[in-house]
Amino acid sequence: MSVTHYIDGKYTAASERTQSLFNPATGKASGEVSLASVSETEAAIASAKAAFPAWSETSPLRRARVMFKFKALVEEHIDELAALITKEHGKVLDDAKGELTRGLEVVEFACGIPHLLKGEMTEQIGSGIDAWSLNQPLGVVTGISPFNFPIMVPMWMFPIAIACGNTFVMKPSEKDPSSTLRIAELLTEAGLPDGVFNVVNGDKEAVDVLLTHPDVQAVSFVGSTPIAEYIYSTASAHGKRVQALGGAKNHMVVMPDADLDQAVAALMGAAYGSAGERCMAISVAVAVGNVADTLIEKLTPKVKELRVGNGEIEGMEMGPLVTAEHLKKVEGYVATGVAEGATLVVDGRGVTPEGGDGFFLGGCLFDNVTEDMTIYRDEIFGPVLAIVRVPDYATAVQLINDHEFGNGTAIFTQNGDAARQFCHEIQVGMVGVNVPIPVPMAFHSFGGWKRSLFGPLHMHGPDGVRFYTRRKAITARWPTGIRANADFVMPTMK
Ligand code: NAD
Repeated sequence: MSVTHYIDGKYTAASERTQSLFNPATGKASGEVSLASVSETEAAIASAKAAFPAWSETSPLRRARVMFKFKALVEEHIDELAALITKEHGKVLDDAKGELTRGLEVVEFACGIPHLLKGEMTEQIGSGIDAWSLNQPLGVVTGISPFNFPIMVPMWMFPIAIACGNTFVMKPSEKDPSSTLRIAELLTEAGLPDGVFNVVNGDKEAVDVLLTHPDVQAVSFVGSTPIAEYIYSTASAHGKRVQALGGAKNHMVVMPDADLDQAVAALMGAAYGSAGERCMAISVAVAVGNVADTLIEKLTPKVKELRVGNGEIEGMEMGPLVTAEHLKKVEGYVATGVAEGATLVVDGRGVTPEGGDGFFLGGCLFDNVTEDMTIYRDEIFGPVLAIVRVPDYATAVQLINDHEFGNGTAIFTQNGDAARQFCHEIQVGMVGVNVPIPVPMAFHSFGGWKRSLFGPLHMHGPDGVRFYTRRKAITARWPTGIRANADFVMPTMK
């Protein structure tokens, strides 16, 4: 299978440079993805630029109708799209469908764009003068997305961007691009004019064109923190509007009064779902007071019994990691944790997976992890849960606030006062109260704090509309009764 680019409503020929694609469950190569050259990326930008005048002049209602059709088509093809995700990413099929559902919620939000684009108006701001604001599209905008949500993360970006009247160049992860390309086909089928949504596959060479090209107005990025910092600084220096979401280390505080069965069930899903390859995965459980021993006792058998295997098989709970290199990196962290003195309660290395011998690692559980350890500080992005024992609530909060990342966090407690205080003082962008993965719904905005997000605006929801539009403020007076003489002083309200 050869995966190329989707420019101007059709597939291109393969690029000179290509990279192998793998099915992570079998470990076998499944095809080749083209890596766009500078000129191929420029062709995608040119196509989007040419499509912009007509698309931005299309009424918001008509643009919304394309979104409605697109939503129906995605729903019709949900099994096919989930299978494409599982084949290249590895996550289990139900989880792939969950990702699609969360992405579709942003499409549903974008269907309301006629309402969302309405500006504000003040009549009679001065005598005979009215003032109002418009929200207009920016032009050509781009998205660069990570491997872990090949459809959901692009859907955080393009539905709102194109519903606002922009045209788009998407650069998905080169590790699992096929489902994003299928989405491009469905947008065409939904009636989106050619050139409004283009996909270029590639690596740094393509990305650097998107960050610096004079015809690109805005860059949305989701990926690891070092790359997010690079994207933010490079694109900002080239005058673009940027939102760059980075990595995470999400803590879940388990208070002494928490319902521990609920907390354990939450930790299992949040730490090991999608093999821990989620930016909102819980990778640290902060056990307050004396809960750690019971927590470990309850978690241990569950982690050992995780059903690990090919995500295409019904009933699997955890699929493989995305690549052989990533597996090696995560296994390296497990070895480092042991070397640095943490207690490895469950060792997932050497797991026997069902239905494939690809890039698998079983669930790993560490106890006695401390702040100075590498496995505490770094984002591992694998099925590795670290338990940190702390004496009290205040130490738990300090621990989280001191961490460089601030994407998501959660507190499990039955005490409203502790939960309220936690929401108030925690230095993290998304907070769950007895909810382990507090991903905001599409009509709210998604984003972290500290080194988990660079740029002022979060993704989708109201911030998405703000990001993809620029404001124009209009003050108007009609000629009836206009004064004969010019006014040389600064206009003030009369
Ligand atoms: P990554 O940073 O390696 O890649 C992300 C994108 O950047 C890809 O499209 C890739 O092709 C491109 N890229 C990689 N190296 C580049 C370079 N040197 N120059 C320019 N572009 C480059 O991330 P990943 O491994 O695909 O995804 C996992 C990371 O994404 C994790 O750190 C995870 O926390 C993060 N993530 C964050 C969120 C969030 O909302 N904050 C959501 C999902 C994933």
